[in-house]
Amino acid sequence: MQMFLLKSRREREKIIVQTMINLYCAGNHANKTELCEVCADLANYAEKRLLSCMYGDIKPVCKKCPVHCYSPQKREQMREVMRWSGPRMLQKKPFYAMVHFIDNLFAPKPIGKLVRRKSK
Ligand code: SF4
Ligand SMILES: [Zn+2]
Repeated sequence: MQMFLLKSRREREKIIVQTMINLYCAGNHANKTELCEVCADLANYAEKRLLSCMYGDIKPVCKKCPVHCYSPQKREQMREVMRWSGPRMLQKKPFYAMVHFIDNLFAPKPIGKLVRRKSK
C-alpha cells in the first residue's frame, strides 16, 4: 500500500487501469483466470498510450484530455470498461478507487492542444 503511494501518478494510473480491465474481463468474458485476447490488447494499448503520453508527468485525466490519443475504437472500449468497472472498484478495490479519485481531483488541467499523435 505504502509502495503504491510512493509511485508516480502515472504509475499508479497504469496499475489502476490494468486492475479495471482485469475486473471487466473477469466479469464479462469467459475466462476468469486470465485476460481474453481483446482485453489483453486493450491493456497493452492503454499502457503504451500512458507511457508515451505527450504531457508526461503533468498529464491531465484522459477523459478530459483535449488531444485524446486513443483511436475511436479503443476509446469506446475503454469507456465501456470504465463504466462497468468504476462502481465495482469501490467494492472490490476501495483503496485503488480512493487513490484514483484523489489523483484525478488534483490532476493538472491540460495545457492547450499539443500536436496530435497518430494512433492506430
Ligand atoms: S488521452 Fe491525453 S492524457 Fe491520456 S494518455 Fe493520451 S495524451 Fe495522455
Ligand atoms: Zn476480456
